[in-house]
Amino acid sequence: MSKQSNLVPPPLKNDCFSLPEGTRWTPVAEALALLKSRLRPSVGCETVPLVDALGRILAADVYAERSNPPLPNSAVDGYGLRHADVVDGPQSFPLVEGRSAAGAPFAGTLPEGGAVRILTGATIPAAVDTVILQEDVTTDGNAIAFHGPLKKGANTRQAGEDVLSGDVILNQARRVTPADLGLAAATGVGELPVFKRLRVAVVSTGDELAEPGTAARVDQIFDANRPMLLAMIMQFGFEPVDMGRAPDDREALKGFLDEAANRSDMILTSGGASAGDEDHMSALLNETGSMTLWRLAIKPGRPLALGMWENTPVFGLPGNPVAAKVCTLIFAKPAMDAMGGAGWCEPVALRVPAAFSKSKKAGRREYLRARLRDGRAEVFQSEGSGRISGLSWAEGLVELPDEALDIHEGTDVMFYPYSSFGL
Ligand code: AMP
Ligand code: MG
Repeated sequence: MSKQSNLVPPPLKNDCFSLPEGTRWTPVAEALALLKSRLRPSVGCETVPLVDALGRILAADVYAERSNPPLPNSAVDGYGLRHADVVDGPQSFPLVEGRSAAGAPFAGTLPEGGAVRILTGATIPAAVDTVILQEDVTTDGNAIAFHGPLKKGANTRQAGEDVLSGDVILNQARRVTPADLGLAAATGVGELPVFKRLRVAVVSTGDELAEPGTAARVDQIFDANRPMLLAMIMQFGFEPVDMGRAPDDREALKGFLDEAANRSDMILTSGGASAGDEDHMSALLNETGSMTLWRLAIKPGRPLALGMWENTPVFGLPGNPVAAKVCTLIFAKPAMDAMGGAGWCEPVALRVPAAFSKSKKAGRREYLRARLRDGRAEVFQSEGSGRISGLSWAEGLVELPDEALDIHEGTDVMFYPYSSFGL
C-alpha cells in the first residue's frame, strides 16, 4: 500500500496524446519552407578527377570539350557506299581494298560505284554517306550484292548528333551519377568542379548509452543512433564526423559541441532535445540564445532543437531512433543538401494504393515505416517509435497529410522509398 497523502493525482485526459491547448505546433511544410529560405551553401570548391567524382555535387556547369561523336561513324558492321550509286532491285558493288575499323580509319576516298568494308564505330570514309548491314549482303570478298533501295544515311551516326562541343552537359548543383561520368568522359572532360564535402558531426547524448559490441550494464542500451546517422550521412554523399557519446552533463556536452563545431559544417545530436531535466541539448542551445525549440506537428519526433553553436548549425534530433531517422530524412537531409551545394532537394514520392487501413487524426503529419509489395504500401505492424526493427524492415516511409484521414486498403497514399532520400 502506498502512503496516504493529500496529493491528488491529475485526472487522465481523454486523449493523452492530444496537442497542448494554446500552443502552436509548426506544420512540417512551414518548417521546411523556413529552412529552405535560410540555408545557403557553406562549403568551398575543388576540382577532382572523374574517378573521385561519383556522388559529388557540381560547383559549376560543365561544358563538352568536344562533340560526341567527334566524327561521323558507323553504327553497324557492314559496307559503306554512296547513296547516289544505289538503285532499286538487285545490284552489286566492287569492294575497294582496305577497310575502316574503329581506331583505324580508311585513308582513301571511295571511288564512284564502289563499296568499302566498315566496322562498328569506325569513322565514315570520305564520300561514303550510307552503310549497309553485313547481314543484308552476299560477298565473295571482291564484291557485295544486295537489294535496293537503301535509305540515305542508313546505319551512320552524325558528328555531334548526341552532344556538340561547347554544350552544357551537366548543371551546377547536380549530384554526379555513374552515367554522368560516362557523359563527361565521352565529351573529353577529365575532371569536374565540385563542392567540398559538407562535414557533418554526429554526437549521441545520454548516460544510458553504451558502445555497441562492448560489455554493457543491464540498465544501459547500446548507442543505435550514431552508427545509423553516420552511415546515412555517408550515403547522402557527405562526410560523417564521429564525435562519440556525450554524457548527460552540461559542461561535458559543451566540450563535445565546441569540438564538433571546430571539425564540421553542421552538427547532428540525438537525445536530450525536449524540455526535461536531463535534456541538456535544448538547455545548452537555449543558453547561447540562438536556440529554437521546434515543436513540430510531426509523428514520430516532435521536439527538434535547432540552434547555432559557434556559427555551426545544430540539429538536435530526438533520441528515439525511429524519430531520429525520420527527422533526419525529412529535415536534416534537405538542410545538408542546401548547405552542401545541391540546392533544396525534394524526395520523389510514389502514389500507391495502401495495403493497410488506419484512421488518422488531424493535427500533424505522420510518417509510417513502409515498404512496397505487389505495388501496394505495407506498413510495419507497430507504430511504436521504439521499434528499431521496423526501421530495418521498412524500405521507405508512407507520408500521411496533416489533416484527418480514413485509409482503407486501396486508398492512395504517398510512399517515399528510402532511395528517394539517397539511401
Ligand atoms: P531522449 O530524447 O534523450 O529523451 O531519448 C529518448 C529515448 O531515446 C530514450 O528512450 C533514450 O534512451 C533513447 N535514445 C537516446 N539516444 C539513443 C541512442 N543513441 N541510441 C538508442 N536509443 C537512444
Ligand atoms: Mg536522453
